[in-house]
Amino acid sequence: MLKIGLTGGIGSGKSTVAAIFNVLSVPIYYADKEAKRLMNENNSITASVKSLFGEKSYSEGLLNRQFIASVIFNNPEKRIELNNIIHPATIKDAEHWMNAQQSPYCIKEAALIFESQSENKLDFIIGIHSPIELRIKRVIERDGISENEVMQRMQVQMNEEEKLKKCDFIIHNNESTLLIPQVVELHHQLLDIANK
Ligand code: ATP
Repeated sequence: MLKIGLTGGIGSGKSTVAAIFNVLSVPIYYADKEAKRLMNENNSITASVKSLFGEKSYSEGLLNRQFIASVIFNNPEKRIELNNIIHPATIKDAEHWMNAQQSPYCIKEAALIFESQSENKLDFIIGIHSPIELRIKRVIERDGISENEVMQRMQVQMNEEEKLKKCDFIIHNNESTLLIPQVVELHHQLLDIANK
């Protein structure tokens, strides 16, 4: 079974593209969602987060995301330490999940594949290219936040061009290229590779 990564910058359309693959019966691992679940459910992760951020990092047993975000906003070292806790755990969890899938290929959707060095656990990586102005506009509309806030979120990610150069396949999510036909075509390509 092939293990495929699906990545792209904030608002590039990862969840949207993943949803189309999912309609084609491809199993999807949503890394961001699973990382959040692990931070709430995995005792060893919970203990490590508490030792890094203190008891205030959890409220009624759930991760206090606002508190953590406010701490790491001004403290890049803490962000790195938090990533060092959560990335290896999510990579391991995704591995476990992918190994249990029974389809020709499965997809791990993650914003930070190269940043967390998880590309070596994947056979191919699909990158989504989307113009920055469109990404900003869509995230503002989706999350109801300001342009400044979107830019801040974007700054912590790797340079988009650099990331896309490392991908094996590119999907263009812009306002002039239809998305669904690109996904269907790539689906057939991946099925061919998987069946060889
Ligand atoms: P994040 O990294 O922030 O999780 P993402 O890469 O998963 O974002 P999406 O949530 O899929 O991106 O897309 C961002 C927003 O743009 C969503 O509201 C989505 O519905 C919208 N969107 C994405 N692609 C398209 C498209 N081709 N046509 C219309 N709307 C789109």
